[in-house]
Parts: sequence; C-alpha cells; structure tokens
Amino acid sequence: MNYVCIRKTMKKTPISFEDTQTAFVSKTNAGLNRAYWLFQILSINWLVQISPAVFKFALWAHLPVKGIIRATAFRHFCGGESIKDCQKTIESLAKFNIATILDYSVEGKESEVDFDRSLEQTLSTVLRAKGDPKIPFSVFKPSGFARIALLEKKNSGKLLSIQEQEEYSRFYKRICTICEAAYNNNVPIYIDAEESWIQDVVDEIAAEMMMKFNQKKAIIYNTLQMYRHDRISFLKKSIEHARSNNYFLGVKIVRGAYMEKERERSKLLNYPSPIQANKENTDKDYDDALKIVFENLDVTYVCVGTHNEKSCLLVTRLMSELNLPNNHEHVWFSQLYGMSDHITFNLAKAQYNTTKYVPYGPITSVLPYLIRRAQENTSVKGQTGRELSLISSEKKRRKSIKK
Ligand SMILES: Cc1cc2nc3c(=O)[nH]c(=O)nc-3n(C[C@H](O)[C@H](O)[C@H](O)COP(=O)(O)OP(=O)(O)OC[C@H]3O[C@@H](n4cnc5c(N)ncnc54)[C@H](O)[C@@H]3O)c2cc1C
Repeated sequence: MNYVCIRKTMKKTPISFEDTQTAFVSKTNAGLNRAYWLFQILSINWLVQISPAVFKFALWAHLPVKGIIRATAFRHFCGGESIKDCQKTIESLAKFNIATILDYSVEGKESEVDFDRSLEQTLSTVLRAKGDPKIPFSVFKPSGFARIALLEKKNSGKLLSIQEQEEYSRFYKRICTICEAAYNNNVPIYIDAEESWIQDVVDEIAAEMMMKFNQKKAIIYNTLQMYRHDRISFLKKSIEHARSNNYFLGVKIVRGAYMEKERERSKLLNYPSPIQANKENTDKDYDDALKIVFENLDVTYVCVGTHNEKSCLLVTRLMSELNLPNNHEHVWFSQLYGMSDHITFNLAKAQYNTTKYVPYGPITSVLPYLIRRAQENTSVKGQTGRELSLISSEKKRRKSIKK
C-alpha cells in the first residue's frame, strides 16, 4: 500500500481491534515469538522492579549487558541508535500506512553539552522529516534542553540568580530555535508533557510559540495529561485563547506517565495532589477532552496519544458522527513503537492518520526510557496481559491455517 494515498479523502471502514492478522501483519513467526517471550519476561514483576539497579551495576562493572539489551527490549521498543538506523523501521511501518515520529529518547541529562546535543538531534529529526510524508511530525521533551531543577525553580516563581537567568535564557532560545525550524521546514512538532512542577513554564512557552507559528495551521502542539484534574479547564482556556488571538491550537492528549512520582511528591511536600483520585476520573476527563476538541475542530488539531481502545473507538465514533473523513488533516492517532499494534495497524488499515513514536538513541542513554516501558508493561491486568493474549491469539490463528 502506498503511504501517500492516505492523504486523499477515504470512505469510512468499520474498525475492529480484535483483528490480530492485521495487528501482526508485519511480524514473521520468529518476530512474533520474540515479542511473546519479551512480554512474558516483562510480566515478571520483581524482575522488572530490580532491573534498573541490575543494569546500572552491570554497566558500571562493564559487564556485557549491552548485547542482551540490544537483542531484546531495545530491538522491540526502539528504532536504533541513530536516525539512519531507523530507516528500516520507517519503511516497514509506511508499508502499512503508518507514519513515524522520530523521538530522540535520551533522558536525565544535566549538562549544557547534552542539552546542545538534544537540540542538534531534534533539529536533525526536523530536517529528516522535511517533505517526507512517512515522518509527518517531530517531537521533543523540554527537559532535554535544561536541568529539571532550574525549570522547577522558574516554575515556582522563585527569583533566579543571574547565572540561572542565563541558563534559563539558553533553554528558552533552544525551544525558539526548534519551533522556528519546525515552522520553516513545515514539520509540525509535539512538545511532550512531563512533571507538573515544570509544566506551567512549558505551557506558557508553548502558547507563545503557537501564537507565533500556528497562524495558518498547527505547527506547534502542546501536550495535555488528563490524569491531572485541572486539564479540562486548561483545555477550555487554551481554546478560548486560540480563538481570541486567531491561531490554531495543537494538542496532544495523553493520560500521563508520571502518576506515582506526582503523588509521592505531593505527599512529601504536603500539597494537594494534581492527579485524579482514580482511573475512572482520568478516563472520563480523557474522553471529555476529546469531545471538547471535536466540538472545536475548526481551531484545534489533535494527536490522540493513547493505547486505550475505548478512547480510540470514541474518536472514530466522533469522526463518524461529524461526517469527517477518516484521514481528516486535524486528527492523528499515535502509539509507542512496540506497543498496541492491534490499535495502530487496524486504524491505519481503515485509513485513519496513524503514527508510531519511534525512539532512538545510544543504548545506554535510552535505558531510562526502556525501563519506563518495562515498568508500565508489568501489570498483568494492563498492557502486558493484553499484548500476550493478542500475540497468543495470532500464534493460534497462524497455526490453524497451517493445518
Ligand atoms: C504517542 C504517545 C505520546 C505520549 N506522550 C506523553 C507525554 O508527552 N507525556 C506523558 O506524561 N505521557 C505521554 N505518553 C504516555 C501516556 O501518558 C500514558 O502513560 C500511556 O499511554 C498509558 O495511558 P493510555 O491512555 O495509553 O492507557 P490506559 O492503560 O487506559 O491508562 C493508563 C493511564 O491511566 C492513568 N491512571 C492509571 N491508574 C490511575 C489511577 N489510579 N488514578 C488516576 N489515573 C490513573 C495513568 O495516566 C496511566 O498511565 C504518551 C503516550 C503515547 C502513546
């Protein structure tokens, strides 16, 4: 199938996430078995919990663990160590109508050299994406461009020292540089959301960049984490702001990845938790946010960043009710590479705009990202159980046609 064809208006096709043949069409039997064993290992809770310490020690002691990581989790969840390495993944996703978002997933760095490297890498993703419909977006994490402690201090309203002010202005400049590059090269860019204690600063800069660069369409997208109970009102205010200042609002809607950390900090520092009381409230606000976005689609562009089937189905229903083509320019779905292929591949087959975040970076530097994925996948009730059962169904289906 030619990727470019999804740009044309398509007729609606009913969608089913149960279709494992479509979900795993890109996987050989050997690839399917590898994924099965990886998720089996990820379902061993205690093993995943001790893995950060084990890997830290092993790398410190120069034990040969890099090869093991490369052949297992890295191969499954990442595109490679460089943009060039990701080419095979980009091509293989594009064959099935799925576009790629190259995500330089190096986290937890603290030096100016590292921040400049992040900027350089993000700029390279923008240039690589320029004019290539297989890579319709770029992305960055604000914490890749400055120390979290600095952003936290700025966010709290405390006065910065002269040195800190200079540091902050380098952070601000890096974001301006990347947003300007996104605009000049016509590559829309997502600003990832992180901890709430740095988010006001990011929200403010994101709004400023949108006002500047989203005049004709959304080039800059901010991310809203719906596990925060204040995000519905933030979304409504952002829409009003976009309307009254005549720009398009780009939003990536996610549930949020730092729940435990958020809860722990609010307890420790004795302030009300910004996180919803339970999963049901998060789910409700997630779906409400989607409804609000669709009511305002004349000024909003949305990336539905989720592995939740119900939320994805809700979007397909809303689009159908509004009689929008599946590949409406303002609506994109996104899942992380290596997860929820049953959603991505089935949406793509039905001609919805779909992307995978494809992380890349040196193995040792993307380790925090991989550990986060592993921890997120541990819960048997959650992602791992679902992945395992889908892979098992597909293995059975393939066996049954061989007979
Ligand atoms: C393309 C893409 C981009 C992403 N970008 C970001 C980003 O920029 N920033 C970011 O923080 N995350 C990001 N994420 C991760 C995302 O926030 C979620 O952690 C992850 O996708 C799981 O949520 P879900 O909607 O897929 O599925 P689900 O499995 O339905 O939801 C799990 C999520 O629900 C919430 N939750 C679980 N239990 C509770 C509870 N007891 N109380 C309240 N809430 C609860 C948590 O947010 C949890 O992650 C991204 C995910 C994708 C797919």
